[in-house]
Amino acid sequence: MPAAEKLRHFRRGIGYGAALPALRDHLPSYLVAAMVQFRYTCSRHQALFIDTLRQEGCTDPAKMDEARRMVLSWLSEKYPLIVFEHFARESCIGCDFEAARLNLDDIAERLRQVARELARR
Ligand SMILES: [Zn+2]
Repeated sequence: MPAAEKLRHFRRGIGYGAALPALRDHLPSYLVAAMVQFRYTCSRHQALFIDTLRQEGCTDPAKMDEARRMVLSWLSEKYPLIVFEHFARESCIGCDFEAARLNLDDIAERLRQVARELARR
């Protein structure tokens, strides 16, 4: 089969729409992180965030970014001072929580809950 025909066959048969989600699920974390609008989050907490969402089946970078905004809004209601200081100091919020020796279990649980909700959409 000539190359041009092979390419047409590939495009028609598999289609970019079908091929992309599968590819997206296997992108390395640092590439996904580039698509999520992290501002001050360190690379360790970006990877932790992405891994947690992936474990719950939330792999779309757009949905991951929505999860980030949802959890940040929840955090700013629950821990307004820490969130305020995080913006003021431009520090990683994950590191801020660790430094404050706060239990991260409820934050992780909230993140998993949001991820499951978004993965279903
Ligand atoms: Zn951090």
